[in-house]
Amino acid sequence: MAVWDLCHSAGALPVGLDEHGVDLAVGCTYKYLNGGPGSPAYLYVRRELQDRFDSPLPGWNSHVEPFGMRAAYEPAAGALRGRVGTPDILSMLALEAALDVWDGVSIEAVRAKSLALTDFFLECVAAYAPADRVESVTPEAHAERGSQVALRCDDAGDVMKELIARGVVGDFRHPDVLRFGFTPLYVGFGDVERAARVLGDVLGR
Ligand SMILES: *Cc1c(COP(=O)(O)O)cnc(C)c1O
Repeated sequence: MAVWDLCHSAGALPVGLDEHGVDLAVGCTYKYLNGGPGSPAYLYVRRELQDRFDSPLPGWNSHVEPFGMRAAYEPAAGALRGRVGTPDILSMLALEAALDVWDGVSIEAVRAKSLALTDFFLECVAAYAPADRVESVTPEAHAERGSQVALRCDDAGDVMKELIARGVVGDFRHPDVLRFGFTPLYVGFGDVERAARVLGDVLGR
């Protein structure tokens, strides 16, 4: 039995849960699904397991009879038992709007653009940044790449602060990694070129 963590793949590449016979999966919706900070998490349970899976976080909303005021807990049937307490309605509404944007969009097209964006960023970084200042730790092979690029850089913490001050918002991972995420639905090639150019300026000073 395995649980897949989809936080960095849902919305970025085809996941194929049924195709791969995945047992269980969890994920957040604030990364490539664009739900915004605090947006709800989700759970996937393979159909054959839905009658017998057990949630470690039972709540009134996963009870078979939420308003029955029974003394004992009895889980609802199937996927409903993955619920916990009162859903955060405002976050759910923001997520609903974020997901509407996906209507008519194929994940294969999103994946193709994601790879084109990360390839292009690596090319631009090679062209603009001094070669001895950054080293890519992102796999060259498309099959091993997500929708982000990580660059090793000696003073990555200070560099990221300066990038953010100039409107290029990535993140810094200890001890020396600059990380950039590429959200294909709304990040364009022009944004990517500008990010690499600003990085080149900051490193070249
Ligand atoms: C972002 C992320 C999570 C999300 O955790 P939350 O508690 O939902 O914020 C989980 N796993 C991985 C690998 C992540 O990148």
